[in-house]
Amino acid sequence: MTELTSLTIADARAGLRAKKFSAAELANVHLLAMEKARTLNAYVLETPERAHAMAKASDARIARGDAGPLEGIPLAIKDMFCTEGVRTTACSHILDNFVPTYESTVSANLWRDGAVMLGKTNNDEFAMGSSNETSFLGNVTSPWRRQGSNTPIVPGGSSGGSAAAVSAHLALGATGTDTGGSIRQPAAFTGIVGLKPTYGRCSRWGIVAFASSLDQAGPFARTVRDAAILTCSMAGHDPKDTTSVDQPVPDYEAAVGKSVKGMRIGIPKEYRVAGMPPEIEKLWEQGAAWLKAAGAELVEVSLPHTKYALPAYYIVNPAEASSNLARYDGVRYGLRVPGRDIAGMYEKTRAEGFGKEVRRRIMIGTYVLSAGYYDAYYVRAQKVRTLIKKDFEDCFAAGIHAMLTPATPSAAFGIGEKGGADPIEMYLNDVFTVTVNMAGLPGIAVPAGLDTQGLPLGLQLIGRPFDEETLFSLGQVIEDTAGRFKPQSWWA
Ligand code: GLN
Repeated sequence: MTELTSLTIADARAGLRAKKFSAAELANVHLLAMEKARTLNAYVLETPERAHAMAKASDARIARGDAGPLEGIPLAIKDMFCTEGVRTTACSHILDNFVPTYESTVSANLWRDGAVMLGKTNNDEFAMGSSNETSFLGNVTSPWRRQGSNTPIVPGGSSGGSAAAVSAHLALGATGTDTGGSIRQPAAFTGIVGLKPTYGRCSRWGIVAFASSLDQAGPFARTVRDAAILTCSMAGHDPKDTTSVDQPVPDYEAAVGKSVKGMRIGIPKEYRVAGMPPEIEKLWEQGAAWLKAAGAELVEVSLPHTKYALPAYYIVNPAEASSNLARYDGVRYGLRVPGRDIAGMYEKTRAEGFGKEVRRRIMIGTYVLSAGYYDAYYVRAQKVRTLIKKDFEDCFAAGIHAMLTPATPSAAFGIGEKGGADPIEMYLNDVFTVTVNMAGLPGIAVPAGLDTQGLPLGLQLIGRPFDEETLFSLGQVIEDTAGRFKPQSWWA
């Protein structure tokens, strides 16, 4: 039999129901694999006791013939999701030892459907970053390495721990949050599938807020079908989040394997950015050819405001972050550093509790929202955002069903190789993903090949609002042609 940690969620679901193995066994092999892979630092907290208890309950429900859609499936949860009674820090010093008394809606939905929690995964501090290097709990090392080299590689970010865990077979699936690319970019860097659903599709309740008009939860999985299965459970209306949309959750799994014949796929010409490595260009062309061979029609389209997306994002995002992070003052949660008076306590707590990137965002955000600069920066960025959204709307109105683009401008880079002197270098990683958050659209990253050094590369599909189904159908075509990718284990 295949190793239990190598199963897809769909296969594990079938195996559990056929009683080929138990949820307890499945949880155990994963906990063991996690122990052997601690050098990756993918998990910031392992929750074996909880995993054992949840798996036992799953086995009882399976025995009673009462299995939920995710019964017994072991999953990892990004440390941005509040988990009741389980430490949640957003990988920031300021949330040291914060133990929520409530469960995020998305993780609660997964447990409702029978999933088993393995632990909390590492991320960039407050999800600010593209490499997982800003985490207060240390960087994550990707399970991938360049051919013939031991240089440690980043898994991408901010959901680097979730991506590494799924790629290295330390969980069958994981949750992520995507504010500017934090699911799709690490998925592409680690050779797995990552979906950012439409804004409003998943509840944000109980997720540590970063930039609220951009944040959205989504799944990581090793196949498109598995991502669809997880989305079915994660999505849905939640009265506790007014931005969550009251629309029925379709059977996403049914969209996997559906014909894409006659679909019109846009190739946005503005995504052919200067300096794009020829391998990425080639991958993109290949992806288009695969979709064409499956019966789709490829159409060149224009999204003229693309070039303003990154600068506008890096105004809207810090503005919202600076406002959201005002709540961390040492009074209610986490770290408190005593000062001479209350103002002194606030200052000391925030100075010590936030890392460099978080402080940078708070300063930029405060600046662009301040009197005198508000109109010049914040209001103008919001106007640009509207234009970016309209670019997509115009294409969709003209009959385009989805867009195909590269997921990232390069393969993963080495730890410490980027952004040290110039933060913009790191921000440029998000050039293909931020537009999707600015427009509130769904986007999926699907592995499509390896670069010349043997590192994974991904393609991105961008869909119409609430049309995740089309992304799953198209994503499956790419997976069927490109195959699946797995790192060589060097850590166990
Ligand atoms: N890398 C982007 C940023 O730092 C996106 C992060 C995210 O999606 N959480 O803002």
